[in-house]
Amino acid sequence: MILQLQQTVKSGLLGHAYLFLGPKDKTMENALSFAQAVNCISPVDGRGCQVCLSCRKISHGNHPDVIITDPEGTSFKIEQGRELQKKLSYKHYEAKYKVLILRGADLMTVAAANSMLKILEEPPEQTMFILTGENGDNILPTVLSRCQVIKFGPEEGEAVEGSEVEIEQAIDLVQNLPQGDYCELLKISESWEKNRENVKKFLEAILIWFRDVAVAKLTNKPALVENKNKWDMLLNSPLTADAALLAAQEVERSQKLLGQNANLRLVLDVMFIRLYRICG
Ligand SMILES: [Zn+2]
Repeated sequence: MILQLQQTVKSGLLGHAYLFLGPKDKTMENALSFAQAVNCISPVDGRGCQVCLSCRKISHGNHPDVIITDPEGTSFKIEQGRELQKKLSYKHYEAKYKVLILRGADLMTVAAANSMLKILEEPPEQTMFILTGENGDNILPTVLSRCQVIKFGPEEGEAVEGSEVEIEQAIDLVQNLPQGDYCELLKISESWEKNRENVKKFLEAILIWFRDVAVAKLTNKPALVENKNKWDMLLNSPLTADAALLAAQEVERSQKLLGQNANLRLVLDVMFIRLYRICG
């Protein structure tokens, strides 16, 4: 499983819809490992222990709360979307998270994709979707914008397109700030500290996100934002333009301090606490 997913599990800030793009074997392997990790009774460094009953059932493909759906023939059809909605309404059998793995998300018909939007937006509690597909070009922007996108390359173990991955993680974090608590925030800051080489990229991604929220709310013009594929999220962000600008200033301040060799952990702690106050 890639590091980014391990960190997600460790931070406890799970999204409810993911889109894994890349070669079939990579996306499926990571989807199952992720399902194990979130349901494991004693995860090790953000991964499933492989020993507990839940981990074993998932690896044997017989866990009742981990549901895998494949396209029918050459496409994923609207009846399948309905069928999924029905399965979702059943109670969990034993897992912490019901995990729906939908393979071939790039083969969804427009009607099927539209039928999925509602559940992607307001999924039942403790439910996680993992859509997988080879090609993101065929996925409706409305579906894309509701998922955290992770791309997998052909190389072992790593996600591709670094800056895009950082942007996804940063947006995830920023979107989740209002629900977080201080202890969680400080844990994130701790994990970022360990991931020193990426901190610059994270900060840049958050800065652009806050700037985009302000621009989206002030101008209503998608052409003016950088995160064009996230237009719906920008426009519907709970932040006001003023709050987004304040948050952007806070991130810039932290970037400057880090440029002057300030203590990384302290700068991050203070930044997260201030962002939480601005966004919460
Ligand atoms: Zn386990």
